[in-house]
Amino acid sequence: MDLVGGLRGVLGSVANRALDLALPAQCAGCRREGAALCSECLPALDVRLEAEPGVPIGLPADIPPPLLQLEWCAPFTGVTRRAVHALKYGGERRLAPLMGAAVARRWGRVAAGGDAFVPVPASPDRVRERGYDQAALLSGEAARRLRLPSLRALERTRTTTAQFDLDRAHRASNLRGAFRVAPGVNVAGRWIVLVDDVMTTGATLAACATALLEAGAMAISAVAVARER
Ligand SMILES: [Zn+2]
Repeated sequence: MDLVGGLRGVLGSVANRALDLALPAQCAGCRREGAALCSECLPALDVRLEAEPGVPIGLPADIPPPLLQLEWCAPFTGVTRRAVHALKYGGERRLAPLMGAAVARRWGRVAAGGDAFVPVPASPDRVRERGYDQAALLSGEAARRLRLPSLRALERTRTTTAQFDLDRAHRASNLRGAFRVAPGVNVAGRWIVLVDDVMTTGATLAACATALLEAGAMAISAVAVARER
């Protein structure tokens, strides 16, 4: 084991994350030292860059209402899955600029519209644990590159059961009323683009969209780094 690898082992994964960020990054895809994603793994985030907007033929065309458009950079597999995991659970926030840039590339190419990015908020408990909200980082990075505002327009009203513990029917009811528009944020008349790291059924995006539309938003689209099927 090399010195840095040895240090990582000694430091553990939670208590010393700040110190961990002072160490050279390790590629989330292949564990090579140097960058949060190396030049060989980085293209995994762009596998859908040339894909037509919308849902590829042969795959379920289930864009959850009331979303107008749903886009993502890559399937939730391989390098992309490991990178999302490292950003969400590994404290590797150096991935956010790389993944936010991928979101900007895909969205910049296929967007039908949208004038502000809004991150899907993580639960306050998880933000406290992690020290950051990964979707907010992604939204900020993507918005900056596309010269759009990124608004922290949504907040969670309560802690929900983790979605992966629930079947499809219970996911929607688990999330009903789970989000609200933050006080002092005006979304009236805006075409909002929701940003998240990974989407599965879209129930979370739909719940966010409903809250924004009830607050007067004109339309809601969404873009994620990865889509799980
Ligand atoms: Zn790599």
